[in-house]
Amino acid sequence: MNIDRFRVRSGDRSAITRHSASYTSGLRDKEAAARQLQEGVAHLEQRLELLHAQAEHALLLVFQGMDASGKDGAIKHVMSGVNPIFTEVHAFKAPSSDELAHDYLWRAARALPARGTIGIFDRSYYEDVIVVRVHPEILASQHLPRACRGPKIWKERYEDIRGFERHLVRNGTTIRKFFFHVSRQEQQRRLVERFDDPEKNWKFSARDVRERQHWNAYMNAYREAIVATSSEFAPWYIVPADHKWFARLVVAEVINQTLDKMALKTPRLTPTEKRNLMAVRRQLMA
Ligand code: ATP
Repeated sequence: MNIDRFRVRSGDRSAITRHSASYTSGLRDKEAAARQLQEGVAHLEQRLELLHAQAEHALLLVFQGMDASGKDGAIKHVMSGVNPIFTEVHAFKAPSSDELAHDYLWRAARALPARGTIGIFDRSYYEDVIVVRVHPEILASQHLPRACRGPKIWKERYEDIRGFERHLVRNGTTIRKFFFHVSRQEQQRRLVERFDDPEKNWKFSARDVRERQHWNAYMNAYREAIVATSSEFAPWYIVPADHKWFARLVVAEVINQTLDKMALKTPRLTPTEKRNLMAVRRQLMA
């Protein structure tokens, strides 16, 4: 799959709407897509073993999207079967009082993946330029000194996020970011399903329905943030998400192509290490 078509070039304001949310790249066969996903997951598992063995690189995957955009399901499916030793998922909710007593990147920094592992952020520090931008009253609860709350705050946060990501990349963390682009109609359909289907009642939240009223403000906040922070070193991908099966395929493909590019290899021992290894083997045999 050509994943480049979903990648946001720095400054490209039209990227979010380049494909409709229901785009499937001409694919229609859900079953074939499920098989393809299964193959993708198997490939992913192999690459992850190498990532882990080499223990030099880390991979950070950021998932953002409106409620019911399907990011949780995608994380679950794409990571199904992957050895949990290699991955850790962090869901970022409204910050606790302890988290609010620090800068907004603090809690993200504490949850970053170690070398040899994948960190999955289900929502992330991007909430601090999205939900916080849509609801300025949240900003008021962040205890910032007045001088840090000026009109340039969003531009400054984008700059700081770029700086944070550049720092991570320069230290061996590869970053890929996904925006699950669901249409307003499809989101409505999924939320209604949560009312009507007893199996899904537990997912229902009155807040999700309230947030729909701010749809345009969210889309603007996403556009601004994505355009300002999609870079060569930490690109955003716009994932058409009205068809869950297609969104999952795109995510699996981006992760696999990213891991392939990292040229991961089984670590080779130096001649001295090899001699030591053989000495221990002889000891074991004796
Ligand atoms: P999701 O929709 O991601 O599956 P959820 O509905 O299961 O999440 P919630 O308890 O609603 O879980 O937590 C996510 C909520 O936390 C989102 O509405 C999000 O906007 C909010 N949130 C995350 N980070 C922040 C932040 N820094 N400031 C304020 N709210 C935040």
